[in-house]
Amino acid sequence: MTSLPRQTDGGRRKKLGLVIDLDICVGCHACAVNCKEWNDGGHSAPLTDQEPYGKDVSGVWFNRIHSYECGDGPTSRTVHFPKSCLHCETPACVTVCPTGASYKREEDGIVLVNADTCIGCKLCSWACPYGAREYDQSDGVMKKCTLCIDRIYNENLEEVDRVPACVSTCPVSARHFGDLGDPDSDVSHLVTERGGFDLMAELGYQPVNKYLPPRPRKDKSGATGTGDALTPLAELAAAGSDSAAGAKGFLGWVDRMLSA
Ligand code: SF4
Ligand code: SF4
Repeated sequence: MTSLPRQTDGGRRKKLGLVIDLDICVGCHACAVNCKEWNDGGHSAPLTDQEPYGKDVSGVWFNRIHSYECGDGPTSRTVHFPKSCLHCETPACVTVCPTGASYKREEDGIVLVNADTCIGCKLCSWACPYGAREYDQSDGVMKKCTLCIDRIYNENLEEVDRVPACVSTCPVSARHFGDLGDPDSDVSHLVTERGGFDLMAELGYQPVNKYLPPRPRKDKSGATGTGDALTPLAELAAAGSDSAAGAKGFLGWVDRMLSA
């Protein structure tokens, strides 16, 4: 079985990841499309499709957007929920891998798959509770979000473009990229200020990626009539990311959606 990188003694570890703002994601799929486009020629290329022009199209996508109706009546709203690998700190997808093909990088925390040693047994996809692994039927290997390592370290690109393709293309800037191991980074500040949370924290995978909860909506009078399903959002934002354990309210709803 595959080992995780050593924890440094007291030293700060780099944790590159994404912060995704559910309040402003409009579900346009631009991030998913640009991810597919970039990674068709990138590190885990090509992202194959089966029957692309047939009735039952399926294919490999690193980033998928799910849209849900949340709440009832006039205070309900649609929440668009982008999902890709969360580059967990304690990912069972890595430790179950029998060949060492799945691994977590010590230098930046990115979780990758080596296609040369992957035997396509799919143990990692069974282990991932987020459905973030993508099996490539054509190549017989597992593929996944690489955080665009071929962009973020690419000195041939302008510095402003050295971010994952999904981040570079989001038209409403709902996606942010940075070092979540650095408490002074912009992404860490966002998480602190907006009550960013871990997806299904109770499972203990310690995802690096964080989600910012939707803000309560105001009605014409300026009141935030959020309805039962959305009422905990304000409390969540105020309470910070630790509140995910034993999730109720919005987080409980997210858990239920992902478990369905
Ligand atoms: S989200 Fe899934 S695939 Fe990604 S590191 Fe966590 S367990 Fe592994
Ligand atoms: S499918 Fe590949 S990466 Fe996943 S556990 Fe099997 S050998 Fe490892």
